[in-house]
Amino acid sequence: MALLVQKFGGTAVADPERIRAVAEYVAGCLRRGDAIVMVVSAMGKETDELIRTAQEVSETKPGREMDMLITAGERKACALMCMALADRGVEAVSFTGSQAGFITDTTHTNAKILEVRADRVRTAIEAGKVPVVGGAQGVSTENDVTFLGRGGSDTTAVALAEFLGADICELYTDVSGVFTTDPRIVPEARKIPRLSFDELLEMTATGCPKPAMRSVEYAHNHGVDLHVRSAFTWEQGTLVTEEDPEMEQAIIRAVTSDRSEAKVTVSGVPDRPGIAAKLFRALADRGVNVDMIVQNVSDHGVTDISFTVPHEDLDRATEVMEAYRDEVGAKDVSSDPRIGRVSLIGAGMKSHPGVAATMFEVLAANGINIEMISTSSIRTSCVVQEEDVDRAVEELHRAFELDES
Ligand code: ASP
Ligand code: MG
Repeated sequence: MALLVQKFGGTAVADPERIRAVAEYVAGCLRRGDAIVMVVSAMGKETDELIRTAQEVSETKPGREMDMLITAGERKACALMCMALADRGVEAVSFTGSQAGFITDTTHTNAKILEVRADRVRTAIEAGKVPVVGGAQGVSTENDVTFLGRGGSDTTAVALAEFLGADICELYTDVSGVFTTDPRIVPEARKIPRLSFDELLEMTATGCPKPAMRSVEYAHNHGVDLHVRSAFTWEQGTLVTEEDPEMEQAIIRAVTSDRSEAKVTVSGVPDRPGIAAKLFRALADRGVNVDMIVQNVSDHGVTDISFTVPHEDLDRATEVMEAYRDEVGAKDVSSDPRIGRVSLIGAGMKSHPGVAATMFEVLAANGINIEMISTSSIRTSCVVQEEDVDRAVEELHRAFELDES
């Protein structure tokens, strides 16, 4: 008998028919002898709709009340799920995040889990019941309801799996696993059967939307294996574990892309100790989240520094750079919101020379100019113009033969 935590995303429980289909599936798993804890998201697009309604009602949208509102979505979904299970003779019991023992900090709309005290959930399992927990929610150290942020249900599931010592945490969604690239860009993209945490983390950090990055970090830090799979076909999906020696090390496992950032360039910066420190401290103090940074070799004592920031931080970043331009004696500040980043990820890259060379050749052969480059031991990324992103992804996916099994 295995203990499984099964999390069902919004599309998996989007309407009454879907809720019944999931309940039917879970009843089948129980008949095979497994013990199951469920985590459910809000139905379909309900979280978006609740946020939209709040925007129509209020300008201030106090965080405490936003969390009270948003968490209602998951609360509804888990109650309905328990009813569908009851019809199938399954004794199920719903829990809000608070009832399930998720203690969080007080950062409303994006709370962090401080502690999991899910004893009630454990007792329910021991009594032969199926606990159904509302995802992405908890109770703060000040006893208020909190929301863990968008995609937070994945984190709820992983945290429960670790508390309960579950055999695996299964994340059921509307795709059948993690793919070699976004199938909306490249229809030939293939499902990856096995993946290491390091690879998935690089993928989620560079544009792969699911699972939520925070939950992957949590799973990685706490040694919880993940299985990303479909709530529609129920087929085997993508197994995510620590890298083990038997795992086939693909040189390149996936191509990701990200259009969420913009580029800022400060040119004619004096090449002296302390200048970069001053500029980036100023950005940090204004809460700007800097990602890639490139500094040129200096020419006659001056250099250029470029960096990327999320689009929503661009105005603040250019303001800060302009404010400091004269102080550090730089010449010019410019920005470009129309950029995108294309990345290759694969653990085998560590021991195979030539990956970067091939990547640059593929981009060159397609007339795509590289504006910035960054690497980790298992990733190579290039910043290119936004309009070139999809073509770069397609060409790289083909060149590295990710469309072939
Ligand atoms: N329903 C919430 C969202 O869409 C939380 C979650 O399910 O992960 O972000
Ligand atoms: Mg952009």
